[in-house]
Amino acid sequence: MIPVNRPLLEGNEKKYLNECIDSGWISSEGPFVKRLEAEFAAFVGRKHGIAVCNGSCALDIAVAALKIGPDDEVILPSFTIISCAAAIVRAGATPVLVDCDPVTWNMDVRQVAARITAKTKAIMVVHIFGLPVDMDPIFALARERGLQIIEDAAEQQGQQYKERKVGSLGDISTVSFYPNKHVTTGEGGMVLTDDPDLAERCRAARNLFFDKERRYIHAELGWNFRMSNLQAAVGVAQLEVIARTIEKKRQIGRWYRERLDSQPLLRLPEAKTDYAKNIYWVFGVVLADEAPLDAAAAIAALRRKGVDARHFFWPMHKQPALRDLGLFAGESYPQSERLADRGFYLPSGVGSTKDEIDRSATALKDVLRGDL
Ligand SMILES: *Cc1c(COP(=O)(O)O)cnc(C)c1O
Repeated sequence: MIPVNRPLLEGNEKKYLNECIDSGWISSEGPFVKRLEAEFAAFVGRKHGIAVCNGSCALDIAVAALKIGPDDEVILPSFTIISCAAAIVRAGATPVLVDCDPVTWNMDVRQVAARITAKTKAIMVVHIFGLPVDMDPIFALARERGLQIIEDAAEQQGQQYKERKVGSLGDISTVSFYPNKHVTTGEGGMVLTDDPDLAERCRAARNLFFDKERRYIHAELGWNFRMSNLQAAVGVAQLEVIARTIEKKRQIGRWYRERLDSQPLLRLPEAKTDYAKNIYWVFGVVLADEAPLDAAAAIAALRRKGVDARHFFWPMHKQPALRDLGLFAGESYPQSERLADRGFYLPSGVGSTKDEIDRSATALKDVLRGDL
């Protein structure tokens, strides 16, 4: 089976891990954690990085740092990962949804203004797959209405919105270092900000809100979301080669486009918009309305041909765990629903070979011809 993702660990990962073991520094107190924080923050152009144990808890920390709680509303896209809505709900706040743009698959920024109320505290933007959110309208709304921006940049490390790196566009931003992200630590993540007070709050929240004067006294409840030195060692090595990783991702995008461009039953992601070039974190495709099969049938057929493809996200307004809380009753977001029914992504890890892309594209063309 051609895997949907294969990471590449061919740089200094082993060397740095050996340094951890030789020195005995394996906990979060070790030197690679601070080094990864400093180097990743510098990479995206931020003053502070706070390493955590995954990208989901980075969102919990971001929400806690902004003191978002009961009575607050946060606007986010329906088409995203559950971690975004979960962080808001766990803080006691209310997630408020917008649909996605049919071209970029990101939050439709034209729908945000209508969802703002007196309770709105923040907009959570999520850069989905390969193209970033169109940020200028979000910046304008945030400024006019006094809202905070939480930016989930998990999928697009190294991407730029106009001249600025993603990860530097929110009051507070987050990334994940899961093995399918551009930098991996196995499991891991980071919170990024320029604000020293927010950074301090993030550090405290990640470390159980220990009182600085008297350890074991806690004015607030936090978490142990610390990253270990072992994870950070891998991350430092990964960050050294991120330029190559991104070039390979874009190469994979071009390989797929050349092979699938002329398929009438398939909608490919745009190669660029007027503000960004696609970074192809994953190569996603959407079946046209005329296609006689849905994503589930296409994925099953591809698996029978030895190609592992994956579903797109399932919209937040259709999540049982959220609906059971009484959220989103009667709401519908047709673009998100269409992507969930008809979208899937193909093998596109940084370790994918040209031959694997060839075979994956050929298998998909066979499926589209009715060879299931
Ligand atoms: C991967 C991802 C996360 C969560 O990261 P984990 O490290 O797996 O918890 C959050 N948001 C987005 C958009 C992601 O793609």
